[in-house]
Amino acid sequence: MKTLFILLDGVGDRPSQILNGLTPLQAARIPFLNALARDGSNGLMDPFSPGIPVGSDTGHLSILGYDPYKYYPGRGPFEALGAGIKLKPGDVAFRCNLATVNDENRVVDRRAGRISSEEAAELVESLLEVKEVDGVEILLKHTVEHRCVLVLRNGVSDKVSDVDPHKDDVDLLWPRPLDSSREAVRTSEVLTKLLKRYRMILEKNPINVRRREKGLQPANMLLPRGAGKMPELPSLSSRYGLKSAVVAGAALYKGVCSAVGMDVVEAPGATGTLNTDLNSKIKTAFGALKSYDFIFLHIKGADTAAHDKDPLTKASFLERVDAALKKNFEPPSDEFIVCITGDHTTSSLTGEHRGDPVPVLIWGHGVRVDSVNRFNEVDAARGAIGRIRGLDLMNILMDLMNRTEKFGE
Ligand code: ZN
Ligand code: ZN
Repeated sequence: MKTLFILLDGVGDRPSQILNGLTPLQAARIPFLNALARDGSNGLMDPFSPGIPVGSDTGHLSILGYDPYKYYPGRGPFEALGAGIKLKPGDVAFRCNLATVNDENRVVDRRAGRISSEEAAELVESLLEVKEVDGVEILLKHTVEHRCVLVLRNGVSDKVSDVDPHKDDVDLLWPRPLDSSREAVRTSEVLTKLLKRYRMILEKNPINVRRREKGLQPANMLLPRGAGKMPELPSLSSRYGLKSAVVAGAALYKGVCSAVGMDVVEAPGATGTLNTDLNSKIKTAFGALKSYDFIFLHIKGADTAAHDKDPLTKASFLERVDAALKKNFEPPSDEFIVCITGDHTTSSLTGEHRGDPVPVLIWGHGVRVDSVNRFNEVDAARGAIGRIRGLDLMNILMDLMNRTEKFGE
């Protein structure tokens, strides 16, 4: 048995006036997805828990069967995964802002006057000359605008306080150990030394000299926060004996899936945005099913459109997904199932993730056929799957693949 798991990021939504009171999924012309719904099982899924909005990070953990309460290490490590940094066990990752501080170490602007991505990237580049401090290896990567990710490697602890005070016009908070372990004390000392060196490098960087001349805020300090260690996640292969891989555009999803032991299969033209090459991704996913039992195909665009508060673009993106699926749908054999769902609702009214459940559809070998014949948030509620939690989904799929073990005698 083989499974293709298609995750449409942020697929759920709320009804909108511009779509005559329908959600983007209800309004979209998606004949192929509707046919799969008609010939398969449908239901609703609370990615984590009813009414609780989740991020893509916690949503994915939960849907892949990893309880975020147990396995979520905070934003730092996921930000690092999203930046394409391969974390090793024991690494401590922080999210960081490039910020403006004055001579008394007071935070004047946590975002350094909304510095551009280009200038911020160049400033971060200049900090890469610091490769280690007292035996601790330093990794730093710019992401967008004033943001970057810092990773400390080798004998470090995540029990270290935020340097970022989370608001302007207050003193920056030098790192403090949050427990009495040697590692925590060492980590806060190393981080303090590192930040002082960064400060010196940033102060004399020509970009900041220029910014000062123009009356702009210099980005002269790095403010780390959200220290976290990537936990050891039991792999899908150790849990279910699965040979699995991910096809995705954005680094975060490749990172999360690698963390649970999936291989990464690259699809040409996959961008992780609305302009991604859907045909290439879907073709690549079906191709990979020849050598893998389980393929996780991540498609981001619907979430992006909803964050832009654009239900029309979200609906038309879903139509493109439907057309590309129809065109490239080539199951490796009859013993095949496909599961299509999302990691959360993203409301194109508010542009934010919401806690409404998402539709889940399972089609294929051995799957019961219910009376639902359309794939959307409302019709799904009548389906045979009922309403499940994200944490249940992998068990349901593994059961259909005959890979679950009996509980009891
Ligand atoms: Zn998401
Ligand atoms: Zn989102």
